[in-house]
Amino acid sequence: MKIIETDAIVLKTMDFKEKDSILTFLSRDAGKKAGVLHGGKSLRSGNAARAELFVINHFEYSEKPSADLVRIRKCELLESFPPLRKNYSKFLHANYFSELLLKCEIPEDESQEYFDLLKKTLSQLSNAKTGIEIKFNFELQMLNLLGIQPNLETCGQCEGELWHKQSGRYLSPKYIAKYQLDAGLGGVRCPNCCINNSSSVYLHPGSLAFFRERYSTLLGNSVIRPTYNNLKELDEAIYVYFRHYFGSQLKSHALLMENSWKN
Ligand SMILES: [Zn+2]
Repeated sequence: MKIIETDAIVLKTMDFKEKDSILTFLSRDAGKKAGVLHGGKSLRSGNAARAELFVINHFEYSEKPSADLVRIRKCELLESFPPLRKNYSKFLHANYFSELLLKCEIPEDESQEYFDLLKKTLSQLSNAKTGIEIKFNFELQMLNLLGIQPNLETCGQCEGELWHKQSGRYLSPKYIAKYQLDAGLGGVRCPNCCINNSSSVYLHPGSLAFFRERYSTLLGNSVIRPTYNNLKELDEAIYVYFRHYFGSQLKSHALLMENSWKN
């Protein structure tokens, strides 16, 4: 039996027996784990606050190789991000991040990168006015961590140029017609190669330019400011990308979309 001490973010909670909860958490050092937190539903035990979604706890747990659940021996609340559970839009965003991470295979030795990304993202979301760009930045970093970066440089079908040759970080798109991000192809289709299939989503040249620019910096301070339409198109395109990769829908995305793009 191993005893492990690590910080972890609660991704999922389930009621268990009368007063307990089963927590699934993303740890900094040991991938994802699930275990019973005794008194997770009882306010008197003080554990209810530690059994809430998206909180960061310091855990001490023991693990048997054959068991599905770890045994939580100690759990201390480190950060709770209250706005994530009080603001509906923030809640939907955090829920989507959690679901993405629940779907990922996370090896122990990559755990810290995922943990740090989620921690930073939840903290930004907690303090921000809106989550739309935070979500986009999170998704771009997830594409990198999962090793499924789309090729944004040349057409994945005909290998033709997508950009005008220019010096500097910002390249302007070669065509004024719509492009496609195609998850099956792992990249972009130029307007001449666009097709109708469920893994392709149309992107206006401006959306693609913003995508490429933000992806090359992975920071919020892009030269190009995204329009509402850029972000909306990319929301769908990247969702389709993840759906293709995981081979299943993400339930949390439908509600998030409905809430983010009301008109
Ligand atoms: Zn092409």
